[in-house]
Amino acid sequence: MVVVMQPQATEEQKEHVRETIHTLDCKSRDIQGDAITIICVIGNTLALTPEQFEILPGVDQVQRIQKPFKLVSREVQPHKTSFKVGDVTIGGNEITIISGPCSVESREQFRTAALAVKASGARIVRGGAFKPRTSPYSFQGLGEEGLKIMAEISEEIGLPTISEVMEPEMVPMVSEYIDILQIGARNMQNYPLLNAIGHSHRPAMLKRGLSATIEEMLLAAEYILAGGNHNVILCERGIRTFETWTRNTLDISAVPVLQKVTHLPVFIDPSHGTGYADYVAPVSRAAVAVGADGLMIEMHPTPERALSDGEQSLTPEALSALIPELRRVAQAVNRVIV
Ligand code: PEP
Ligand code: MN
Repeated sequence: MVVVMQPQATEEQKEHVRETIHTLDCKSRDIQGDAITIICVIGNTLALTPEQFEILPGVDQVQRIQKPFKLVSREVQPHKTSFKVGDVTIGGNEITIISGPCSVESREQFRTAALAVKASGARIVRGGAFKPRTSPYSFQGLGEEGLKIMAEISEEIGLPTISEVMEPEMVPMVSEYIDILQIGARNMQNYPLLNAIGHSHRPAMLKRGLSATIEEMLLAAEYILAGGNHNVILCERGIRTFETWTRNTLDISAVPVLQKVTHLPVFIDPSHGTGYADYVAPVSRAAVAVGADGLMIEMHPTPERALSDGEQSLTPEALSALIPELRRVAQAVNRVIV
């Protein structure tokens, strides 16, 4: 249920609505639009009636939200979410390119990669330090040491960072070093992790689970917003199908479907989405054309020597060649890649 306040509602009237919500054993969350405030009622709202709020001073109207997800829904917030990470705007008219290696392997490797990311025109650098690997014998990442490397290099070259966090207990530590917290596909429904990131001050990127429906993804994002963190990016990274010629099947239609129902920015990961470097450029062009708000592309200085996901990683040269192409596609759909 959402309580839409009148444009001229006073702060006291809004506070009175919030207090009423709290006395009914629910939580309140404000969505601040340009002119009006919407106060969401979170909790078991089935026993409540709109009239309980409609009679309060300053209230314009009360709506029941029909969809199972609420805070992520466009019914609650019609305008697109946009926020800044450093000087990069996410979710605006700009399309944001994130790139970097699957894993941070050494200071030298990450620095070389980050410099190539910067030179290519991509705005945010990625790197995995805690890696969810299918086999326990595969490289598991450098852990906190990897994050330290990322923070140092980010400071040196001036690009914000994104890295995966796998456990709720690790959210504060990863947040000390990293600008955007990535929730990997395997953890999309790790609810303690979603709750912990909901209480974090860092923006988050939620990747679609290997077999997750769009509704499950939206409900996972709802956990983060319900915790108070509204700066969430959704990332389509391919789902499991019977097809074996690509690593996953990238659901390109997830972009317009998600954008219809949610105000959150929607990104595409063409690297995990296809699994092969040869397919990354064509699928990236499609992602921009379909209206994605950003892309996350794996790139490695020497893909053939990468400790993880080398097969799907672009070389620095391929990334630098791709971004001008993406700029042209962006222009054709009235978007910009700066
Ligand atoms: C990654 O981004 O390196 C990663 C592990 O992605 P996903 O969680 O989508 O598999
Ligand atoms: Mn990877």
